[in-house]
Amino acid sequence: GMHFKRGGYVVSSRLFAESLFVERGVEWITGAHVQKVEAGKAFYETLDGESHELAFDFAMLLPPFTGTGMKAFDRAGQDITAELFMPNGFMKVDADYSKKDYAQWKAADWPKTYRNPKYANIFAVGIAFAPPHAITPPRVSTKGTPISPAPPRTGMPSAIIGRVVANNIADLVLGRTQHQPKTASMASLGAACVASTGANWWSGTAASMTMYPIVPDFERFPEYGRDLKFTFGDIGSAGHWIKKILHYMFIYKAKALPMWWIIPE
Ligand SMILES: Cc1cc2nc3c(=O)[nH]c(=O)nc-3n(C[C@H](O)[C@H](O)[C@H](O)COP(=O)(O)OP(=O)(O)OC[C@H]3O[C@@H](n4cnc5c(N)ncnc54)[C@H](O)[C@@H]3O)c2cc1C
Repeated sequence: GMHFKRGGYVVSSRLFAESLFVERGVEWITGAHVQKVEAGKAFYETLDGESHELAFDFAMLLPPFTGTGMKAFDRAGQDITAELFMPNGFMKVDADYSKKDYAQWKAADWPKTYRNPKYANIFAVGIAFAPPHAITPPRVSTKGTPISPAPPRTGMPSAIIGRVVANNIADLVLGRTQHQPKTASMASLGAACVASTGANWWSGTAASMTMYPIVPDFERFPEYGRDLKFTFGDIGSAGHWIKKILHYMFIYKAKALPMWWIIPE
């Protein structure tokens, strides 16, 4: 989660999200892991180790994030998958993957150039790179089931990282050795997210959030891990209009139409 200032008070994103749910008559369950799904029924375990069932008529489940399960082989046909990928299938890059407790996690553990340390011509950006660890304390149910959110690698950081790495690859290919590699650590990038809460042109609203940095850094910002000047959340029509405008701008950019590169990520 995150904290931000609202009406002169520091509030948690939990309060923000729960108020939105209450206002819309949505009930929520958190700290839960879905064990199996049958037609019209989901079975889940909560942090206290209890098993529950939930009937539904429509459901969308996001499975735990994993890589695509690619295998890698060297010229001699030797399987080098473990050198390139972590057990979760994401690619190893310039992150600190040493096993540490939550208290030892540091902003510096996060990758900066997204280059594989062993194979200098291999990079992994966006969702494809292996994060060094989560960004919130890992939780395990009393039965030993891990129940933790994955670190967010959403559209904005994925796109910024993609651009920075593409520039670095262009420098390598063109032999521009005088250029220092550019970096895009998620511990030094900020991000914005606009979640639509009604798409109607005139009456629509959206919840807008910004955070800086994405990965909390308790050495720089001891109280909340983030800079509250740049960490913000609000709901209303301004966010809705920004979302509409961004929608058309990003489709324009994706089509690489004239001057596409002026549009930021
Ligand atoms: C339901 C959902 C809602 C989301 N909502 C938001 C949101 O509102 N805002 C936001 O910022 N982010 C959102 N995200 C997250 C965002 O979509 C991702 O963070 C972002 O798309 C990651 O970008 P990427 O380029 O790393 O990966 P992707 O966009 O997943 O691109 C990877 C591409 O690689 C292709 N591929 C895979 N395997 C191979 C292969 N072997 N050969 C060739 N191609 C291959 C895939 O087909 C895919 O096109 C959402 C994600 C989900 C799942």
